[in-house]
Amino acid sequence: MKILLLGGGGFIGCHITQKLLQSTDHLVNCYDLFDARLQDSLGHSRFNYIHGDIRHDHTRVEKLIHDADVVVDLIAYANPSLYVSIPLDVFNLNFTENLKITEYCVTHQKRLIQFSTCEVYGKTVASLLQNQLPDHDNPAHAVFQEDNTAFILGPVNKHRWIYSCAKQLLERIIHAYGLEDRLNYTIIRPFNFIGPRIDFLPSEQEGNPRVFSHFLDALKTGEPMKLINGGHQRRTYTYIDDAVDCIVRIVENPNQVCDKEIFNIGSPDNEISIRDLAFKMRCIYKRRWWRGQTELPEPIEVSGETFYGEGYDDSDRRIPDITKAQQLLGWQPRYNLDQTLEYSMGYWFNGEEGTSWIPQFT
Ligand code: UDP
Repeated sequence: MKILLLGGGGFIGCHITQKLLQSTDHLVNCYDLFDARLQDSLGHSRFNYIHGDIRHDHTRVEKLIHDADVVVDLIAYANPSLYVSIPLDVFNLNFTENLKITEYCVTHQKRLIQFSTCEVYGKTVASLLQNQLPDHDNPAHAVFQEDNTAFILGPVNKHRWIYSCAKQLLERIIHAYGLEDRLNYTIIRPFNFIGPRIDFLPSEQEGNPRVFSHFLDALKTGEPMKLINGGHQRRTYTYIDDAVDCIVRIVENPNQVCDKEIFNIGSPDNEISIRDLAFKMRCIYKRRWWRGQTELPEPIEVSGETFYGEGYDDSDRRIPDITKAQQLLGWQPRYNLDQTLEYSMGYWFNGEEGTSWIPQFT
């Protein structure tokens, strides 16, 4: 197959590329603004990097889609600080531009694998009804199922939700094309993937990455680890190799298995509060890499508005129901939380070569 990865130069795309080149015979065309994460794939005989910005390149993107067998759309702004600081750009890229890709796939009858987000689920019922639910901490209230769970978002003035909302509308339009039998598609909802090459360190590059990179940076610099609104929110972290294993099964599976399906991809057993994440990362760092270079950072509490600006709101908790991926794809995540964190941190503290000790499952 000729696989087109749109936005394939990002954190997820570079790992998909690597896996496709290593373990399949497919041709991989990667379209992105940047190739920095693709260095180990550049030069491979079945790999082609195409530099471009979809917002100014529609004719060429349509041609690339026309020439592909499968289109994987990873193009997105997927970072909460951007949802708050540039909501219209987030909408334009995540909805308007992505919709064009969908429509090109409809026109040229190409299978589309669309990356969406677990953020479409929003908040839990428990967060709204805290005092009225006797068992509000029961994980069952936070388990999200692809085809049954309703979405709960905050009000419009909490514009963080524009990302969730844009992705939701895109999913609904893709679904509607499917209803009319005009599109073969699979939608993927990632649950907090982490691993080597995620984001960047804020002390080295301007911007506001996701929490894992902030905490890493704090460990490197000794600056405090900031717990937004106390760090009580919970996430389930998924090691990128587990995620890519599932994604490649979706790419490779015959259309009947995945067609018109939505898949959660995540590790339900790897749940942790952000407060505990800070302490766990500090503990791993102390055991593996700390030699007294800097003071070990202390967690401090910071409000969401101070950290992100007005319009910030949060998902309190999200646990993926992965029954569908288990049953239809035979997939099972294998990295536990400690491994996920240690291997992801290892890349930054040992360098890329330092990840060679990570076990490769076959
Ligand atoms: N967060 C934090 N400290 C930071 C950055 C983020 O406590 O330095 C919190 C954030 O408020 C959210 C959680 O960590 O509750 C995860 O945020 P992230 O940016 O990783 O993305 P999300 O999972 O919300 O998409």
